[in-house]
Amino acid sequence: MEEQELAGTARQCAGCGVMIQTEDKAKPGYVPPAALARDPVICQRCFRIKHYNEVAPVSMDDDDFLRILNGIGATDSLVVMVVDIFDFQGSWLRGLPRFVGGNPILLVGNKLDLLPRNINVNRVRNWLQHEAKERGLRPADVLLVSAAKGVGIDELLVRIGELRKGRDVYIVGVTNVGKSTLVNRIIHDHGVAETDITTSPFPGTTLDKIEIALEDGRVLVDTPGILNREQIGHMVTPADLRLITPSARVNPKVYQLNDRQTLFLGGLARIDFVRGKHQPFVVYVSNRLKIHRTKLENADQLLAKHHGTLLAPPSGEAVASLPPFTRHAFKVDAGESRDVVISGLGWVTLTGKADAYLEVYVPKGVHVGIRRALI
Ligand code: GDP
Repeated sequence: MEEQELAGTARQCAGCGVMIQTEDKAKPGYVPPAALARDPVICQRCFRIKHYNEVAPVSMDDDDFLRILNGIGATDSLVVMVVDIFDFQGSWLRGLPRFVGGNPILLVGNKLDLLPRNINVNRVRNWLQHEAKERGLRPADVLLVSAAKGVGIDELLVRIGELRKGRDVYIVGVTNVGKSTLVNRIIHDHGVAETDITTSPFPGTTLDKIEIALEDGRVLVDTPGILNREQIGHMVTPADLRLITPSARVNPKVYQLNDRQTLFLGGLARIDFVRGKHQPFVVYVSNRLKIHRTKLENADQLLAKHHGTLLAPPSGEAVASLPPFTRHAFKVDAGESRDVVISGLGWVTLTGKADAYLEVYVPKGVHVGIRRALI
């Protein structure tokens, strides 16, 4: 009898939105039967994240995700696309223009709090707009926020109100951009729900879409994120992910390098200054990530001897499961200011008076790119 009732009122986890089930511990949405009486009900996975800060990897099928995105094109709605300004490349939701149909897009750059204090916010906004355009997206507006610190949220809500014109709102983004944190903020500032949506530093927390009622009878829909496999975060352990994900404002570190010198960003990236003139390399990564400088001629040996110890993360045995380093070559022309971006880790800014030739080594599958300097 009890089971029938349950089946009739299919419930979703108040944390991540997945359908609740009591049969299979290994599958998403599992709740021990005894915990069903709780209100609100959260799945065991969200429970663990909340109370023990530990996460069981669950991934959403790409097809499921595409199905949800495709559905948005058929609606009349405002699409709010969230990106992580600290990891723009890794957080770009590819193919969005194809899926949204004629719906307007509001582009939100989150994690503003991580950028150094002296940044010009307008410049970052213009930069985002430019990058979006390059990728075929013409947002109705671009806003910068910090969901975690509550910066820019009022303006965002006003802008959503103006742009949605009485329509539903879909919030989309790849995992880890802070979408759940943002939705929580919106809920709290609007007071429309009592439960937090679970947030965590691990990719993939929101498993199915969550609808939040808006005052005019419309809904705000939090869609699940999709994993961007180019993010380095998918290749490291949860402990290392915590270390490389900046949690506080990033302090740029300046290295005056001569050519034939190498910088190691932990044991996850190696930057060889192959040819050029003495010049600064400004590194923007998590403050907790250790950086080592060495002569290029010693770099191979240093890596062979100290990968996983001095050059970490990856720490210890995790070195063995890291994909092999692959080489990417770049040239920064004299007088230009360029960022060499390593998806999920950060970037290095070069502003050389002479042409600079670099070789960057990262685990296979991690995206490395070059862009106009952000700062
Ligand atoms: P989702 O997968 O996009 O829903 O991302 P979450 O909301 O779970 O957030 C992913 C990680 O980013 C968590 O560690 C959050 O604490 C962190 N985060 C979210 N918003 C911000 C922000 O505005 N600033 C900073 N520094 N971290 C944030």
